[in-house]
Amino acid sequence: MSTVATATFRLGSLTFTIVDDGTLLVPVGLFFKTFAPLEPGADEGAAPVRVTWPTSGPRRVVEVPEAAWRPEVALELVDDGWLPGSMNCLLVRSEGKLILVDSGMGTKEVTRRSMNAKGQADAGSLLKNLAAIGVQPADVDIVILTHAHADHIGWATVEQDGRYVPTFPRATYWMTRREWEVYAAPELLERYPVLRANLGPLLETGQVAMADGETAVTSEVAIWPSPGHTAGHACVMLRSQGQYAMHVGDAVHHPVEFKYLDWLLAIDYDGPQTIASRRRLIDWALAHDALLIAAHTHFPGTGRLRPLNGGALWEVAERGEPGRAP
Ligand SMILES: [Zn+2]
Repeated sequence: MSTVATATFRLGSLTFTIVDDGTLLVPVGLFFKTFAPLEPGADEGAAPVRVTWPTSGPRRVVEVPEAAWRPEVALELVDDGWLPGSMNCLLVRSEGKLILVDSGMGTKEVTRRSMNAKGQADAGSLLKNLAAIGVQPADVDIVILTHAHADHIGWATVEQDGRYVPTFPRATYWMTRREWEVYAAPELLERYPVLRANLGPLLETGQVAMADGETAVTSEVAIWPSPGHTAGHACVMLRSQGQYAMHVGDAVHHPVEFKYLDWLLAIDYDGPQTIASRRRLIDWALAHDALLIAAHTHFPGTGRLRPLNGGALWEVAERGEPGRAP
């Protein structure tokens, strides 16, 4: 399968390129939940959803009525109940540093096995797509991981001589301090092979940096914490000459979650925090007329928001030019 997989945009004096890692199919049953706290002793209405990933605590998972969500996604559903999602990574050069935001699902079996999603034939194509625009792993100075889920850290490492090593040999890998502390804790590395394979080697080589609060990586690129989907999830903001863009990571998984802020994923770490972070992101995006890049929205995943009933409507924005290295 051959797809157009890079697209380049201008933002003030910056050039950035969306580089796709291919397509995932996610079971629709993972979407369209709301959470309520689980009262002591009460399991009435407790969800049959299998949640193996860490959460902020026991909670009751409540289904959004199918009559509400189905019309929103009906045209996208494939194979009897799967939602296709791109994996839109971002490459930007700022102040001489080549910066990659998110690393897709990659090709390692340990990563794929861990996911409640099906990678399609083009999944894991990030390195190939980077090479197509002339970027080799050793060219990358900084990797920012929005969060530690498998479909964002999959190319953090590669297998070499029977062990895992950082894919980007010179790069510093950033996440928020909270994300490192929760998902790279010794007991989680022990329990989840996907974390051990993708984060463990970075700790061993010391190629790790931790963001506390909003953190400028350069004067044009900043880590912008938006916790909720994971404990220390972050978006990544770009700014140049009064223009703004934001890679929103998994603050939303589908643009309909901008319209209905309380439509959550079964695996969201903290429901109320996810909603609060979405609220803050919408307010920021509207105030700055920002171009948003959504990790899983149809490539290249770019759009702008328009206010709608307390939430926001996603409007697909520029499609970009044919990709080139920024
Ligand atoms: Zn994701």
